This record gives sequence, C-alpha cells and structure tokens, in this order.
Amino acid sequence: MKIHKSDTVVIVRGKDRGKRGKVLEVNARSGRVIIEAANLIKKNVKPNPQIRQAGIVERPGLIAVENVTLVCPKCSKPAKVGYRVLGHDLTGEARSRKVRICKSCQEQIE
Ligand SMILES: [Zn+2]
Repeated sequence: MKIHKSDTVVIVRGKDRGKRGKVLEVNARSGRVIIEAANLIKKNVKPNPQIRQAGIVERPGLIAVENVTLVCPKCSKPAKVGYRVLGHDLTGEARSRKVRICKSCQEQIE
C-alpha cells in the first residue's frame, strides 16, 4: 500500500472530495483506510457509564484507498508516489530500504 498510517491524504472521489485529513487506520487486506473526519457515518451509541456522549455520534468510515491521494509533506501537493531504494549496493542487500518519494519534488516521504 502506498498509503501509510499518519500520512496526510486528500480525498479525490465521493462526497468528501477535496477534504484533507490524517490517516488513522490502514486496512491492507481490504484496501481501505480511515481518514480523520472524513466519510462520517452516524452511529447510535447506547448510554453507558464509560461513554459520556450517548446518542448519535459521528465516526469516520472506511474509504477505498483508490479514492485518496497522498499529500506530500514537503511540497504539500497531492503526490504521485514513486519508490527509491536506499543503501543498495552489491553486498549490502539486507541494508537496502525502499522508501516512498514524491514525484513532483523528488523528496523522500517518511
Ligand atoms: Zn513533494
């Protein structure tokens, strides 16, 4: 998955198109992510001593990863993600590490 937890993404399809938010959860198996304050779904919470806010609460729902684009933290544009292999040499296979890069500014995305 190109999207990781804690990334900032922009939603490119659906009712929340254009909204930016932080990735709270990534579900690689289903290819879906949860974005802070996006795709809100109403949930009925029953009163309970542990939950102060009973009644209808809104929670962010799952969004297909195809519907979001990573926002580059360096140039803050929606990024086309590429990959770069660091520390790769003929003997150091184990030390090499694949990192994401933003194709517009060529900066590494952590
Ligand atoms: Zn960039």
